[in-house]
Amino acid sequence: MYSNWYINSGESMNYIFFGRSCDLNIGNGKTVSAIRLLMHEHLILGKTVFSNIKLNGIEYTPFTPDNIGEILETENAFVLFDEIHAIIPKNDRILPGCKKHIKLGLCYDMVQMFRQVRKNDITTASTAQTFGDCVYQLRVVMQQMIICEKFHIEKGVFRKCETDKCPESHGNHFIKQTNYRNGEILYFEPEMFYKFYDSNEIVKGWNKL
Ligand SMILES: [Zn+2]
Ligand SMILES: [Zn+2]
Repeated sequence: MYSNWYINSGESMNYIFFGRSCDLNIGNGKTVSAIRLLMHEHLILGKTVFSNIKLNGIEYTPFTPDNIGEILETENAFVLFDEIHAIIPKNDRILPGCKKHIKLGLCYDMVQMFRQVRKNDITTASTAQTFGDCVYQLRVVMQQMIICEKFHIEKGVFRKCETDKCPESHGNHFIKQTNYRNGEILYFEPEMFYKFYDSNEIVKGWNKL
C-alpha cells in the first residue's frame, strides 16, 4: 500500500525515525526522513523550527538545553532531535534531579516536553539507530514510529542498500518508510532534502563524561 500517511495530517505529535536493528550503522535515511517532515511542516504549515543539528537555507533556532521553556511558549513549533540517544542515553533513569547531563534534570524536562506536544501544538521528530536506542520513557510517548531503509534500483527491481557508502552505480535512491504500528509503506526520493543539512555532522552529546 502506498500512501502519504503522515504528510498533511497537520496534527502535532511525536515522530521517531529509526533503522532496523540488523542495519546498524548503515545510512538508512532516518535523518533525511526527519528533514523531509521538517521541511513540510515548516513550509506548508508554517511551523517555527528548533533543531539540534545545523540546518542550511532555512530559518531555525539551535536547540540547546536551555530552550525547552522557549519551545513550550512558541506557537506552532517543530523540534528536530537528531540522534536522541546523544541527548538522553537509553538507560537513563528520568529524574528531576538527574545530574548526568550538562543541565540538571534535563532528561526529566525533555520527557515533560514530549508529553505536552498536543496541548502546545508542537511536532517533534527524533532519530535513533534503532527503536531500542530511544529511552523507554520517550518510546511510550511516540505516536508515529517509522522504520527507514534505503533502496536503489538494480536491473529493474528495488534492492536494499547494504553499505553506508553506496557505489555510483546505485544512481537515484529511494527511502522506504514503514509505519511500525500499522505496516503502511511510503517511498520517497531523498535527493532534494540532502542540501538542508550536513549528513557528516557529529551530533554533540549533552551528557557529562
Ligand atoms: Zn537524566
Ligand atoms: Zn545505495
